[in-house]
Amino acid sequence: MYETPKVAIITGAARGIGKSISRNLASKGFHVVVSDILEDLAQETAKELEKLGPRTLAVKTDVSKPEEAAELIKKTMDAFGSVDILVNNAGITRDNLSIRMSESEWDMVLNINLKGAFLCSQAASKEMMKKRWGRIVNISSVAGILGSAGQANYASSKAGLIALTKVMARELGSRNITVNAVAPGFIQTEMTDQLPDNVKETYLAQIPLKRPGTPEDIAEAVAFFASPAAQYITGTVLNVSGGLLI
Ligand code: NAD
Repeated sequence: MYETPKVAIITGAARGIGKSISRNLASKGFHVVVSDILEDLAQETAKELEKLGPRTLAVKTDVSKPEEAAELIKKTMDAFGSVDILVNNAGITRDNLSIRMSESEWDMVLNINLKGAFLCSQAASKEMMKKRWGRIVNISSVAGILGSAGQANYASSKAGLIALTKVMARELGSRNITVNAVAPGFIQTEMTDQLPDNVKETYLAQIPLKRPGTPEDIAEAVAFFASPAAQYITGTVLNVSGGLLI
């Protein structure tokens, strides 16, 4: 893929989509930094991925805390001397109808999903700018484009991520840093396992490809943005939803 291995940080990488992204990039020769708020699971994932060949590092990070986002970049620089790719994948849901949503439900989701991505991108892009090379991939959601009832906080955070993608693409393009987003549809992970069966069935009925997505489906899209093939693509949103959003 690249002559010398690039260094990729993936947030929320201990499990689910983030773990798949990490596995996919590791299998393509990237050094992988497995960052997650769940320290033990991040260590376990990093150890597992090391078997694929490249070096890995586990870093405990709460992306919503500026000092922890800065520490993530510092530890990566100390270990590898470079931050080449950042995948802002950490995200949570706290669903509720708007009229019932508490301020803490709103704040928690916006702080992790949107502010967290901003803080990590800000810290990482300072290093990328020095090297005049970087790739940032934000994991948004079709919810941020379509809106989804019961997810005022989540959909707003994911729509915000799309705006952040476009702003940073404009700001960082002259330094050869691309910023893109992937908008997954309904993907089978622990996040969606929690949904009631009737909600899952409603999603499935709207998917032309007639199955939920897999974390690997998302990982392939991220790997594309990280690859040399995508060097002239920035500021875009790639919808990976089996046709849920057309
Ligand atoms: P998941 O819950 O399995 O994984 C999320 C990971 O983020 C977990 O490992 C968790 O520990 C970590 N995390 C949570 N809070 C954090 C914090 N403050 N700092 C750092 N890490 C934190 O969920 P997933 O389905 O794998 O989702 C991954 C991303 O994909 C999320 O951003 C989610 O919004 C997005 N997404 C998922 C779906 C889906 O259908 N599963 C659809 C669209 C978008």
